[in-house]
Amino acid sequence: MGEGIGGRGKSRSILIAGAGPVGLAAALELARRGFSPRIVDDGAGPTPMEESRALGVNARTLTLLSPSGVTDHILTAAQPIGRFCVRSNRKILIQLDTQEVKGRFSAICALPQGSTERLLMEALSVYGISPEWQTAVVAEAMSDLQKPEVTLRRADGTLETVRPDILIGADGAHSAVRKALGAGFPGEALEAYFYLADFRYAEPVDTHFAEISLFDPGMVGRLPVTAEIIRYISTLENFESRIVHPAAISEKIWASQFRINFRHVEPMAKGSVFLAGDAAHIHSPAGARGMNLGIEDACWLAWLIAEGREQEYSAFRVPAVKQVLNQTYGLTRLVTMQNPLAVAARNFLAPLLLRFGPFRRQLLRGVSGYDTPKPPWIDWAE
Ligand SMILES: Cc1cc2nc3c(=O)[nH]c(=O)nc-3n(C[C@H](O)[C@H](O)[C@H](O)COP(=O)(O)OP(=O)(O)OC[C@H]3O[C@@H](n4cnc5c(N)ncnc54)[C@H](O)[C@@H]3O)c2cc1C
Repeated sequence: MGEGIGGRGKSRSILIAGAGPVGLAAALELARRGFSPRIVDDGAGPTPMEESRALGVNARTLTLLSPSGVTDHILTAAQPIGRFCVRSNRKILIQLDTQEVKGRFSAICALPQGSTERLLMEALSVYGISPEWQTAVVAEAMSDLQKPEVTLRRADGTLETVRPDILIGADGAHSAVRKALGAGFPGEALEAYFYLADFRYAEPVDTHFAEISLFDPGMVGRLPVTAEIIRYISTLENFESRIVHPAAISEKIWASQFRINFRHVEPMAKGSVFLAGDAAHIHSPAGARGMNLGIEDACWLAWLIAEGREQEYSAFRVPAVKQVLNQTYGLTRLVTMQNPLAVAARNFLAPLLLRFGPFRRQLLRGVSGYDTPKPPWIDWAE
């Protein structure tokens, strides 16, 4: 399908709230189609390099960011993840070769969120667009959803009232735009907390695989951040004592803890106001889908706006979001289960099931992000 101009013109004013990966991807995809969006962010700059949340960039995101040229830069900077392994009591339960996925890209690679954001900003700057930092969207309950009114508040206290033709809320989990729409954010918070720590090593280590070690109860995951940095993520507060470090530690770069929520908004748009990324859905990092799913929202929305079909956005995206939330919920339950019988059944059944091609392929399709509809504007096989 070609990329039409659509009936309502590229001169429409578009305001994007939030310059995280999702807002930046929306701005870039609109800019390369001839729009001139304005993008503002409450923060002082992109995600600090040492505080990366999202690491996994999946094959679907690489497909989506290919037309803008960002994919080539991601592939140059990212750590390939060649295999994925799940162990229990040092026994390998599951081993997946991420190259098994057919197509242009392997299933997933690792790049700190701060790097992904900087690459998106660099590509956006070619169109003369940069985020306006320290500029918060302050939105009261919106009365006119066709021409939404919002106030922009800068760090120096100055205020500006704007009424864009299109408002995109990509302002994260606590979205001011979502609240101004009066949209709920139904779902649940899991009891479990997740803990993470990133370590830099004094010498080169093998960063080309991801691994989950299951304990009784709890888990510790190991993921590459860069060639010298590894992230450990766990359901156990004292997880650092369980880490088998591959080399001498040079520094602990970052540690954090968070509670897992599964929530999504429905519909994802009202009038000319659209929600994308964490503003519209949040879930656990199991499967590394959050940023990837948000970038997918952004790319679909930009295409639909260019086609003059943005009113179809929610109908396209809600089923994809529900599918990913269900999948990550299942994965999270699998790694956080505590009942000894359930743990024994999981440890027995998972390796058996994954010997079968269809199960392996389904899991890998999810990791690749290929389990949601293929973008219709991409005319090559993924
Ligand atoms: C530990 C952890 C690991 C993760 N790992 C992965 C992974 O491997 N792969 C993956 O795909 N995802 C992962 N995620 C999820 C991922 O980090 C998020 O889904 C992603 O950051 C969402 O991007 P976003 O642009 O929607 O929101 P955000 O990154 O939260 O960006 C929102 C932006 O909006 C700005 N903002 C907020 N309020 C306002 C306002 N009122 N006005 C203007 N600006 C505003 C903020 O300053 C921010 O810059 C992980 C998350 C966590 C916590």
